[in-house]
Amino acid sequence: MAATTPSTLRIGYRYRPNRLAASYDAVVIGSGMGGLTTAALLSELGWKVCVLEQHYTAGGFTHSYERNGYEWDVGVHYIGEVGARTRSRRMFDFLSDEQLEWAPMDPEYDRFYIGDKVFSARAGKQEFRDNLLRQFPDEQEAIDKYLGLLAGSGSALSAFGMGRAMKPWQQSLAQPFLDWKTPDVYFRNTYEVLSELTDDQDLIAVLCGQWGDMGLPPRQSTFLVHAMIARHYLYGGYYPVGGAWRIADTIIPKIQAAGGEVFTYARVSRILVEHGKVSGVEMKDGHRIDCERVISSAGVDNTFRHLLAKDVVEKSGYEHDLRQVQPSFAHLGVYIGLTGTAEELGLPKTNFWIYPGNDYDAAVAAFMDDPEAPFPVVYISFPSAKDPDYLNRHPGTSTIEIVAPAPYEWFTKWREKTWGKRGDDYEAFKNQLGERLMRELYDKVPQIEGKVDYYEVSTPLSTDWFGGYRNGELYGLAHTPERMQQKWLRPRTRIPGLWLTGQDVLTCGVTGAMMAGLLTTMSMVGARKMAPLMKRIYN
Ligand SMILES: Cc1cc2nc3c(=O)[nH]c(=O)nc-3n(C[C@H](O)[C@H](O)[C@H](O)COP(=O)(O)OP(=O)(O)OC[C@H]3O[C@@H](n4cnc5c(N)ncnc54)[C@H](O)[C@@H]3O)c2cc1C
Repeated sequence: MAATTPSTLRIGYRYRPNRLAASYDAVVIGSGMGGLTTAALLSELGWKVCVLEQHYTAGGFTHSYERNGYEWDVGVHYIGEVGARTRSRRMFDFLSDEQLEWAPMDPEYDRFYIGDKVFSARAGKQEFRDNLLRQFPDEQEAIDKYLGLLAGSGSALSAFGMGRAMKPWQQSLAQPFLDWKTPDVYFRNTYEVLSELTDDQDLIAVLCGQWGDMGLPPRQSTFLVHAMIARHYLYGGYYPVGGAWRIADTIIPKIQAAGGEVFTYARVSRILVEHGKVSGVEMKDGHRIDCERVISSAGVDNTFRHLLAKDVVEKSGYEHDLRQVQPSFAHLGVYIGLTGTAEELGLPKTNFWIYPGNDYDAAVAAFMDDPEAPFPVVYISFPSAKDPDYLNRHPGTSTIEIVAPAPYEWFTKWREKTWGKRGDDYEAFKNQLGERLMRELYDKVPQIEGKVDYYEVSTPLSTDWFGGYRNGELYGLAHTPERMQQKWLRPRTRIPGLWLTGQDVLTCGVTGAMMAGLLTTMSMVGARKMAPLMKRIYN
């Protein structure tokens, strides 16, 4: 069991130009799951890779932070498919040299409060089905058809990913096969597909009860991504033992072992393109790192709108492509520290999803029009309860986190101000939203009244400041049906030497970004060189 803890959760090596090696085989922008996976797999193939991370710690959305004696994760609440030797588990094991361990959540991994009704999702395909049937006894046919569609989504997603890893001409040749593996149903909107299975709006709401995991309500989301997420958690949720930061902490040694490094405080300001191909990156301090292969995991918006010169983007045709996609929702976070352990306070290893009613799209629209309207979704997670190692690091305490949507536009007037110095009006607005979310928490977990020692609120500006997402987007590009049709969202770009990875290439989620890292490596080195590595990962 993981027990070693750094005094602060700052992973990676602080960037200084004189700490760079003379040359690298590849430079990776961003140390999230996509960037680290790509870097680690290339390192395993003998490449010397330099990962540049603008934040003070590595990990992207998998990083954790400490304040006032508490520790919180920022973008890892639960991961599925790691309780058995699945493809994802084997990849995590390979990347971490089996140092990353997983703790199961309660069999009831998600609980949905929908208006005044309460439903749940339970771990295990059979248990999931039986539990749904208990809640909706007249809906057996719909539930079974739904589970059939989830079963098919695995091969649909693999074919989708395979297509993205191919060269465009290879994809054109393979298209009939890929189309056969990805039936149209997966590219329709989620509500449309589910409403053909059942008229029961409560059942549809329960099946879509995890819509916050991709940030789009059912009438706007792609069924493929809905199905991928539901299937991902079908056998329950798991949490990294020792905290989310252990993910990066256990992967980085692989990169270092091949002579590479993960630098923090290392903001890239430009991707350099000379004579039509990539020649390196320019850092915020003006230092230039020459390299003919640059992999961006900083997101499509950052890469094409901010890191590349405008004329390069126009010439390579991305200006038009960018108009076909939009950022995902932005969010508020509340990070809470409590006196008393999770056990003493009766905190579950179950996520709570709180909805005002069963029409999620209507609730989102109402909230966007009127900030005083009820939050369309409030998500509550109990991370210290999920982590069996937490008390070794923070004895006698526990933590809770709340996530809820909030448009970036509500905060734009403070965007140019520095973190921690945005003024009293910003603090007042933030606190008012935080208090509303705390009331939701006390309503569902009343036993914690009087035990809250500390809490702080993050806004979309925090996502911008710490994660580099300029619209505060929590999942990169929105997972609309249109996005999933964008064939240019692939590792290989039209700019020679520039590659993409991370959640915008495949789907959001830690596993989605990790699998994007695999696709990027495969695209870069080719199937022949990749085959022995795949054998080692999946043997
Ligand atoms: C609140 C929240 C909860 C979530 N919960 C879960 C969950 O429970 N389970 C799950 O599977 N997924 C969850 N996710 C989603 C998941 O965390 C992400 O989809 C995934 O981690 C994204 O990985 P990535 O590598 O694509 O991007 P990121 O992790 O965002 O990494 C990109 C990195 O690039 C860096 N960067 C950006 N610009 C520059 C620059 N110019 N120079 C240098 N570095 C730069 C950023 O600082 C960042 O570290 C959650 C996300 C959020 C926000």
